Amino acid sequence: MTCKQLGGACETEFHTNTFEEMAELSKKHGMEMVQKGDKDHIAAMNEMKKLMTTPDSMQRWFDTMRKEFDSLPDKN
Ligand SMILES: [Zn+2]
Repeated sequence: MTCKQLGGACETEFHTNTFEEMAELSKKHGMEMVQKGDKDHIAAMNEMKKLMTTPDSMQRWFDTMRKEFDSLPDKN
């Protein structure tokens, strides 16, 4: 899956076997880009924060992403 598919801002691809690794990688990548001052990723991160104001909405986002991940024919 790409950064964009995971709510990010670029076409960087993450190749992992599990969704948990994927979420971890994309989080790391996102934070790196924000630290570098990348405007697109900062905006994406802010959007994400708006979506994840409650544990409930965070869980929903996670479930949606997991479904998308599971539906990919080739996860690598
Ligand atoms: Zn990115």
